[in-house]
Amino acid sequence: MSDAAYRGRFAPTPSGPLHFGSLVAAWASWLEARRHSGAWLVRIEDLDPPREVPGAAEAQLRTLARYGLLADEPVVRQSTRHGAYRAAVEALLDAGLAFHCSCSRRQLAASAGIHRRCLVPVDPNRFAIRLRVADAEVCFDDRLYGRCCEAVGRDCGDFVLLRADGLYAYQLAVVVDDAWQGITDVVRGADLLWSTPRQRLLQRALGLPHPTTLHLPLVLDPQGRKLSKSDGAADIEREDPCSVLRAAWAHLAQPADRLSGCRSVSELHVAAQQHWDCTRIQPAALPEATRNVIDA
Ligand code: GLU
Repeated sequence: MSDAAYRGRFAPTPSGPLHFGSLVAAWASWLEARRHSGAWLVRIEDLDPPREVPGAAEAQLRTLARYGLLADEPVVRQSTRHGAYRAAVEALLDAGLAFHCSCSRRQLAASAGIHRRCLVPVDPNRFAIRLRVADAEVCFDDRLYGRCCEAVGRDCGDFVLLRADGLYAYQLAVVVDDAWQGITDVVRGADLLWSTPRQRLLQRALGLPHPTTLHLPLVLDPQGRKLSKSDGAADIEREDPCSVLRAAWAHLAQPADRLSGCRSVSELHVAAQQHWDCTRIQPAALPEATRNVIDA
């Protein structure tokens, strides 16, 4: 298959070392890009300095390199992109699609954390900027999960673009950067599936295209929880990369025998590119819990 316009990406938050679940997302997004003869980009989502672990971004890039996953273009860091986020927020304010808001968490708690036009006067010293969200359902077709619909107004309400502490929200930055980098296809973990309707609303408000999405079944720990970089999930840096890649291949429901005989990371990549078929991936139960994250 050849589709030179395909542009995919892997976008880790530098909150700790990459774990097995991150590698699954990185490799699947890389394999899809290769399958379509497209470009694969890496973007470091260092938007939130308090959550950042010093040196984590460099360690993540080293780990990716050890697994043979090298970006086709220079790595972008979101910490260098504040001007673009500011311009997007200003455009939304000018168009009346976003507004200043000084509601506290306690005031929001009265409506189950869902922001529906808080009437508290705006405090000029402390306010967030939120997107106005209409009541209509937002639907999209995920390549694995099929038709997904969410009433974003009901589930999360008017969501944050710029936090009261001055940090830009993930939803805003990801939409601005996916468009700026010309990303056509997003392949990432299913924990972010319910971010897609919010991102679609923002893309619509900013007049930006919608990338297609493929959300991958999450890798869970023995207690059934998602592995998390910040919880110190086992670092894959010290493990044998060929064994880890074979385990990722199995998680993605690809047949093990297609990789037999490969002795190095580069041999594995050659065979994997040849035999990769994303239609074999099996969807797991959808993560409901991610729906109500108000500041995500
Ligand atoms: N930065 C997010 C993470 O590390 C991924 C964002 C995305 O792929 O849209 O989980």
